[in-house]
Amino acid sequence: MKTTTTVLLALALGLPPVLAACSSEESQAVHKFGYTGDIGPEHWGDLNSDWILAKTGQQQSPIDLVGAADADVPDLAISYQEAPLEIVNNGHAIQVNYPSGSHASLGGSEYELQQFHFHTPSEHRIDGRHAAMELHLVHKNAAGELAVVAVMIQAGAEHPLLSKLVSQIPAEAGPAMAKDDVRINASEFLPADLTSFRYAGSLTTPPCSEGVGWIVLRSPIEASQAQVDGFKAAISGNNRPLQELHGREILVGK
Ligand SMILES: [Zn+2]
Repeated sequence: MKTTTTVLLALALGLPPVLAACSSEESQAVHKFGYTGDIGPEHWGDLNSDWILAKTGQQQSPIDLVGAADADVPDLAISYQEAPLEIVNNGHAIQVNYPSGSHASLGGSEYELQQFHFHTPSEHRIDGRHAAMELHLVHKNAAGELAVVAVMIQAGAEHPLLSKLVSQIPAEAGPAMAKDDVRINASEFLPADLTSFRYAGSLTTPPCSEGVGWIVLRSPIEASQAQVDGFKAAISGNNRPLQELHGREILVGK
């Protein structure tokens, strides 16, 4: 069953079918990890037996997106609804939880938006270049498989949606905060051109589960330096180092 669904995911992403390890995301919040020192990324695979893929996995993320092959990839269609803001500083990222009803469709297969969060600076690189920030829009399908749409954010013009978020960032880690008077729509983060890199990868935080379909948009969006600094003031340096490609194919198309 797992093999079947993994193959379907691979097909939906326009990737050759591969067997991936079982994914069990979101269950390890009690274990502490970080980005420096003895809980830093080079130690994640030793901190918890359930995080072993962090050091043994062959399909880990992030990667440097170089040498992508032009391909006729399955269509990406995004339909996000407006939602009340629920924001959390979980100690390793600023995250916004999204209510049900917003979707990404990949080749006709539906994935529901669960949450989005930010890494400062970017985790992926495009042709060797970091961006100031990287947005991860995390989606899950009915089989529990994950697809992440990543958007690079470079310093430039102020972004209207980020303005709403920056003023609400909890300075300290803690529980999610509902801000019902602040309405947001994650579709404001999408560039006009949805040309994207597609590859099979993993969560970039423990347990680093594989079988994650990555869709990294090639066109960046912009945020002002003050907005970038607003995120940095709460959490910075939450970018896992680049991982080995191990022969994976990177496709690009739209
Ligand atoms: Zn992320």
